[in-house]
Amino acid sequence: MPKSEVTAVSMRPSIPHNEAGAVPGEVAIRLFFKHLAKPVDAPPPGEFADVLAAQEPDPTPLAEAYEFVRLNAALADNIGETGDERDLYVHLDKLADGVKGTFAKSYCRSGCSACCHYPVALFTMTFTEWRIVQRYIETEWTDEQRHDLAVRYRKTFTGLWRFMLMMLQNSYVGVMLAAPLMFPRQVACPFLVEDKCTVYPARPYQCRSFGYFSARTWGRTPKVYACNFQGEVLLEQLEAAGPQIQLPVMNPLILKIRKLCRGPRMALPLWVGIWVERYERKAVTPGQ
Ligand code: SF4
Ligand code: SF4
Repeated sequence: MPKSEVTAVSMRPSIPHNEAGAVPGEVAIRLFFKHLAKPVDAPPPGEFADVLAAQEPDPTPLAEAYEFVRLNAALADNIGETGDERDLYVHLDKLADGVKGTFAKSYCRSGCSACCHYPVALFTMTFTEWRIVQRYIETEWTDEQRHDLAVRYRKTFTGLWRFMLMMLQNSYVGVMLAAPLMFPRQVACPFLVEDKCTVYPARPYQCRSFGYFSARTWGRTPKVYACNFQGEVLLEQLEAAGPQIQLPVMNPLILKIRKLCRGPRMALPLWVGIWVERYERKAVTPGQ
């Protein structure tokens, strides 16, 4: 897209726009973040001096990622199953790595977890993506990790929260009503431990793309799909670099992902809750 199309950045720690087209809840979610969400805390002075002092963008990594996607997009027929060029997660990761390689000025780094806090619970994932996470925790985790997930989940997502999530994922009125209760808590994703994602290789597409892509919604100009700090630093570099460097746009990839996804769509903690109930009934068979 031409540079001038990138005109705005999400100024809040926001859930990703997780659909390519308009969804009814998106109106409420936009209002919600505009009026009620708290901004991410400012980075501590000095801590990110390296980000601001980083070199100018190098277009090569992103150009190589685009070339990979151009050559292989037609082959993509699965999500998280094959780990090769047929796997859409591989395409997303290549593009995100391309952005990381191109833009040395980036706040996204291991240990930065602001975007894994409560609003994330509003994003939904289909059974197809959940199944990848579930397989990961059942095959790659120790039983101690599984036990800790159950404890963490029970401690945080009480009956009230589960009820709210069920309302929120289907109702923008619910989102608006619950917002004042939600944000003061800044609840973390159940998979976040010591500011690190414990299902990183299996994380859903929203988590793979947040901080690196732009998204076009409702036919309007694309927005950088990131928190305010990352979004601003990317926009600044895009402006400086000119039209030869563009962020990847999520929408075509989302359309492909949606075609491959099956089963119901639910908020991430609700999927975790179903799994925790099975785990507590000893119905989970690790390694299966
Ligand atoms: S988008 Fe990047 S900088 Fe922003 S909170 Fe997430 S990881 Fe941190
Ligand atoms: S799945 Fe991982 S990356 Fe995604 S919100 Fe949870 S902790 Fe963060």
